[in-house]
Amino acid sequence: MTDPEISTASPHGSRFPDALPTAVRWSHALLAPRLRQGDAVVDATAGNGHDTLFLAQRVLPGGRVFAFDVQEAAIGRTRERLSGRGLESVTLIHAGHQKIEDRLPPELKGSIRAFMFNLGWLPGSDKACITRTRTTLEALNAAVDWLAEGGLITVVCYPGHAGGDAETLAVEEWAARLRSDAFEAQKIAFLNFDGAPPRCVVVRKRARLTERTFA
Ligand code: SAH
Repeated sequence: MTDPEISTASPHGSRFPDALPTAVRWSHALLAPRLRQGDAVVDATAGNGHDTLFLAQRVLPGGRVFAFDVQEAAIGRTRERLSGRGLESVTLIHAGHQKIEDRLPPELKGSIRAFMFNLGWLPGSDKACITRTRTTLEALNAAVDWLAEGGLITVVCYPGHAGGDAETLAVEEWAARLRSDAFEAQKIAFLNFDGAPPRCVVVRKRARLTERTFA
């Protein structure tokens, strides 16, 4: 949270400098100390490119960054955010994150250090294109397979909009069913705010899977 890139680049920072981290800031705070130059990482929802930039700054040069989005506008905004920073080697994928299995290089299966999901709609767009429960869960199921031992999946969930409430619940239920001998799963959420503020679900792969994913 002392990283100036996080506090200035994130659209989700609180107005109050000493406030507890928002869900987006938690996702960054959890990942920042665990990522190294050379790691392979995935932004599953590129959006405006803030998370892609965050990832690229930590693993490049030497690492691999893949960023998915179904909207051309999001791919364009992400490309713009990266440009001029020497981070052009990021692979932008104009496709849904449910295509993880088809679109990531097969040799990276089991060695992705982080998957970041930031659900909902593209800020500043018409809110018509939102992530959907079915494809989000498909992507999460692929992500646990592609994740390295010790790797993290962060999912910023938005229970405050129609569809987002059910999607949030589905993500939490999905994470709660992960086998505890192979995964740790947590939820970070405000207890006392009005409305339904965003929350962060985080999964860490403790051990390579030999058989079942779920308990
Ligand atoms: N709500 C967040 C931003 C989410 S951006 C915030 O306030 O910052 C979510 C992005 O996911 C959007 O750019 C949208 O185009 C993208 N998206 C929607 N469905 C997707 C899918 N199946 N695969 C990948 N990206 C998707």
